[in-house]
Amino acid sequence: MKKDDCIFCKIAAGEIPSNTIYEDSEFRVILDLGPASTGHALILPKNHYDDVCTLDRDLAAKVLPLAARIGEAMKKSLGCTGFNLVQNNGRSAGQTVFHFHVHVIPRYEDGPDMVSWTPGKPTAEEMAQTAEKIRSALV
Ligand code: 5GP
Ligand code: ZN
Repeated sequence: MKKDDCIFCKIAAGEIPSNTIYEDSEFRVILDLGPASTGHALILPKNHYDDVCTLDRDLAAKVLPLAARIGEAMKKSLGCTGFNLVQNNGRSAGQTVFHFHVHVIPRYEDGPDMVSWTPGKPTAEEMAQTAEKIRSALV
């Protein structure tokens, strides 16, 4: 299913040109227009899902193996020594295009630094309360 005004639906369908590095009947993998590092790629399902919460489960099971293949190809071809998988859900999490996608971001020995945070120091009680809140909301 496609969504009418969705740019990633159009790119995934080939209606808008992209630098495609992989394509099959369910996915297109393209280079990000504003890369965090050389080779930064986006895995796009051809059907529209807003985010991971609405993603089809059978399709979801194929995403990580595909990401691993892309990352391995990056290591062989680009000289990166690692890669990050980043997947944003919701505006507060940094999602700007509301068509599910996974970023595959090559990491090189000389940087750039990315995906870091300052570790918090919650008490044991706060940790237990937080865990219980999430546990009780699981469906
Ligand atoms: P998000 O912030 O939603 O996780 O990631 C959206 C990503 O899509 C950004 O990294 C942005 O650079 C990329 N992007 C936005 N529009 C286009 C486009 O038209 N073509 C390509 N190739 N990438 C895009
Ligand atoms: Zn879409």
